[in-house]
Amino acid sequence: MRCPYCTNPDTKVTDKRDSESGARRRRECLKCEKRFTTYERVELDLNVIKKDGRRQKFNRDKLFEGVSKNLEKRPFTTEQIDEIVDDIEARIYRIAKDKDIPSSKVGEIVMDKLKKVDKVAYIRFAAVYRDFADIDEFKEEIKKLK
Ligand SMILES: [Zn+2]
Repeated sequence: MRCPYCTNPDTKVTDKRDSESGARRRRECLKCEKRFTTYERVELDLNVIKKDGRRQKFNRDKLFEGVSKNLEKRPFTTEQIDEIVDDIEARIYRIAKDKDIPSSKVGEIVMDKLKKVDKVAYIRFAAVYRDFADIDEFKEEIKKLK
């Protein structure tokens, strides 16, 4: 594994984390001492079925992007967001097994996770995803969180 900063091939692993969807290694370059993270991902052939019936290959980057957007200006580091996405991904895989999964199910899993990690992010996501019919319904949902 070469250092992305100075291309030196000698690096050491400072932290390991394994999850169902892959493994993450924190590394430190032995030459320039910069730190970086590498990932080993399990890529399953998983399709997400959209509302209109179209199939789309599951894409972690898109999931990450969506989750990051909802966590914008919230106190989370990229690494923490990565962990959140890992958890969501692992649940998707567990539920889908090797079949396809409807996008609505993916939405529920994301919503459920955001509810646990950040109420503001949850409300942001739910407002768009659930498409609250009116302001009362929205207020009701916020009340439930208190
Ligand atoms: Zn280096």
